[in-house]
Amino acid sequence: MQYETVIGLEIHAQLKTATKIFCSCSTTFGNEPNENVCPVCSGMPGVLPVLNVKVAEYAAKMGMAVNCVVNPVSVFARKNYFYPDLPKAYQISQFEQPICGPGHVVIETEAGRKKVGITRIHMEEDAGKNIHSASENKSFVDLNRTGVPLIEIVSDPDMRSAAEAVAYLKEIRSILVYLGICDGNMEEGSFRCDANVSVRPVGQAELGTRAELKNMNSFKHVQKAIDYEVARQIDLVEDGEAVIQETRLYDAAKGTTHPMRGKEEAHDYRYFPDPDLVPLVLEAQWLTTWRGELPELPEAKRNRFVSQYGLPEFDAGVLTAERDLADYFEATVAAGGAAGGEAKKVSNWMMGEFLRELNQAGIGAGQAKLAPADLARLVGLIDKGLISGKIAKEVFPELFAQGGDPEAFVKAKGLVQISDTSALEQAVDAVLAESQTEVERYRAGNTKLLGFFVGQVMKKTKGQANPGIVNDLLKNKLA
Ligand code: ADP
Ligand code: MG
Ligand code: ZN
Repeated sequence: MQYETVIGLEIHAQLKTATKIFCSCSTTFGNEPNENVCPVCSGMPGVLPVLNVKVAEYAAKMGMAVNCVVNPVSVFARKNYFYPDLPKAYQISQFEQPICGPGHVVIETEAGRKKVGITRIHMEEDAGKNIHSASENKSFVDLNRTGVPLIEIVSDPDMRSAAEAVAYLKEIRSILVYLGICDGNMEEGSFRCDANVSVRPVGQAELGTRAELKNMNSFKHVQKAIDYEVARQIDLVEDGEAVIQETRLYDAAKGTTHPMRGKEEAHDYRYFPDPDLVPLVLEAQWLTTWRGELPELPEAKRNRFVSQYGLPEFDAGVLTAERDLADYFEATVAAGGAAGGEAKKVSNWMMGEFLRELNQAGIGAGQAKLAPADLARLVGLIDKGLISGKIAKEVFPELFAQGGDPEAFVKAKGLVQISDTSALEQAVDAVLAESQTEVERYRAGNTKLLGFFVGQVMKKTKGQANPGIVNDLLKNKLA
């Protein structure tokens, strides 16, 4: 029997507003516990929530960016459950009338481009944090995060592999960061996802029973959790057992999933419209203004990088994944005054050495000390033959770390390539004099030895000889 995997994702994105969703407390991360708290977000009786309109703006902009219908009227609902980090005993969310309805994004898969449907996007408040101290044998509650705004983006069950799920997740993250509405940090939890996974025999129209996976805080975890879960469900079905609908937690240390709670503990949220909040009405004029403020989004930028710079799709995908990386690329190409061909050289440097250094330093392109104009100069120095590509790569980590003009840098280090023919001639003559046997064999027809002579000259000049000139000199002298 062949099985097909079906995946739908629920993504929670923390919005980068200055204040919380229903009160004016700060959203700053890392303050002392319960510093960012007031009667509203700590759930005191008798207080009233007031919507922060920035939250609606950001949610609507995300909807527009993923081709959603933005509903002119939406309604907040209470999702009831009891937990110490939720002092009201309900979370304000949206249920029957969310801010955004159906939409879609396009992702790149092995088989080409694919549309993934978005079911809905709604606004809600985050809960606080319980901290359990084993040493003190006590539990603490920190309400700083209570009331921090979130949007939940729910996808259709359109993904067919863990790789597609990760591609979709990366696309959504990229769009959120482009919009400037979420910092996209998975490790810190400002961008998190639950994966709904099921399997069905190939050809069956009806969906299989799904499990909902939680607790994955990196793309790698998402990939591994889904792969594990798919294998587990296929094993069950093959053994004639049923998959049960449940929430399962991913265990990063073991690479497995296990049930989070039994059925008898399953939540019944008893949603109902929040009587403390009037329906949200978005005026047409606001929507027009917000749409006008959308930046160029990843997919459009990807397409433009292919058509404007003649880059391969792959390069365009890598360079546009982060907005500041894309900006850096364009600034470098502009500084080089370059046409299509040079853009590819810049792209190679950025996808290779530059990205490696950025990742190692753990910073974005916007924080790099090496300015785009200086990277353009470096590419130019190699083109002009002033330094070899090999040496440029060797010194790049240092140049990247300190920034500045690469020409001054390589000159100060004495790394400038020797293109002066008379100086090179001396080295070539010396090598030929030292290698009489090889010279005779070359002249007897073993022309493959040319590489040997080039290597010797390079050794003598500590890698600084211009290989093109050395080649010409050797061929002339050996003829
Ligand atoms: P809930 O809120 O209870 O989790 P939803 O109906 O909102 O349920 O579905 C949540 C997610 O589960 C959506 O992303 C949806 O695409 C996905 N989903 C629903 N059914 C399946 C299934 N059989 N297999 C995989 N994913 C599914
Ligand atoms: Mg769910
Ligand atoms: Zn507050």
